Amino acid sequence: MENNYSYDTVKNNLSVITQNISEAYDKYRNDGTKVDIMAVTKTVPPEVVNWIFDWGLDLMGENRVQEYLSKKDLYSKTAKDGSDPRIHFIGHLQTNKVKYIINDMDMIQSVDSVKLAHEIDRLAKANNKVMDILCEVNIGGEESKSGIAPDKLDELLSETASMENIRVRGLMTIPPPVDSDIFLGRMSELYNKLKADRPQGIEMDILSMGMTHDYAEAVKYGSTLVRIGSGLFGARNYNK
Ligand SMILES: *Cc1c(COP(=O)(O)O)cnc(C)c1O
Repeated sequence: MENNYSYDTVKNNLSVITQNISEAYDKYRNDGTKVDIMAVTKTVPPEVVNWIFDWGLDLMGENRVQEYLSKKDLYSKTAKDGSDPRIHFIGHLQTNKVKYIINDMDMIQSVDSVKLAHEIDRLAKANNKVMDILCEVNIGGEESKSGIAPDKLDELLSETASMENIRVRGLMTIPPPVDSDIFLGRMSELYNKLKADRPQGIEMDILSMGMTHDYAEAVKYGSTLVRIGSGLFGARNYNK
């Protein structure tokens, strides 16, 4: 496959991102928690995605079931340290597509309904696994975005808490692009409140927020996992 990606450019992008994260962390946070960097792979050819493992990244984010299925066999099976790279599903997930990814994913970050949670629980059980999930919160209340409304989150958490083959690990969000710091702040409050007063049966140790335009800000607000696509691989070209 022809592509216009440059190994050195992408490598340099990663070192800039890593540097910015550690500056924001040292300046605003320094609380001993770690920040995981995810490479978001949509539209990026698998042979380019595989570069990230050379540099010590081991976490990939997948948005689309079809695209993932067409690329999965071309991904490297091992990260630099010899372990398997971790793969999280981060895109909108239809209930009828869960079956295609249930075995491959280490986490599903985009759970936003009880119905979807039930299907993940059912298929995880059938496949003898416990699936880690995050609840995706539509913190900006935007109609165009998936995610559960903040005032419905308690209900989703209490329903999922009793599902045996699901382990809730935290929250994920895509804040509105404008004034995103306000929404990052709200997510941080929500997360800290739940962490301090955790409903029984759930864990609250992952706050997934921050993308190319706001990851440094997200680190300031306590993100433990930033999801970077275009800032790492370059602007997406859907026709490539
Ligand atoms: C595309 C995408 C990202 C990465 O976005 P960039 O702005 O390219 O960094 C992160 N999270 C989700 C859910 C996405 O769909």
